[in-house]
Amino acid sequence: MDFFENVKRAVSDTAQTVSKASGEVASKVKTRYSIYDTNSEIKRILGEIGLEIYQLYKNDEAELSDSILEKCRELDEKNEIIEAAEAKLDSKKGVVTCKNCGEKLGKNAVFCHKCGSRVDGGEDGGVTITVTEE
Ligand SMILES: [Zn+2]
Repeated sequence: MDFFENVKRAVSDTAQTVSKASGEVASKVKTRYSIYDTNSEIKRILGEIGLEIYQLYKNDEAELSDSILEKCRELDEKNEIIEAAEAKLDSKKGVVTCKNCGEKLGKNAVFCHKCGSRVDGGEDGGVTITVTEE
């Protein structure tokens, strides 16, 4: 067999090996993607279950274990952090949120028109001031 025949055969064998290998890689990528996809679905369903449990906690509709209660309270804290951050953004936009009732008020509001709380951040900010009608 001459030299060029050997080279041709070697190239052909290599090509076949590469093609087989890339097929295997593609199949592995597909399998990994399917695992990733299914894991995402599992996380979505777990999230939905969690949300339903959190709603039960919020509505006091079920007796929950201590560890679940602890996690629900953690969620409460996180929600408060988000609410505070959003209120901060709102105040930059020119809206103030009443700390007492959550009503959105103008940036320059001193008292909440809905519940009467002081909202201008004064010394007694957030404290309800009752106005006695005569
Ligand atoms: Zn208010």
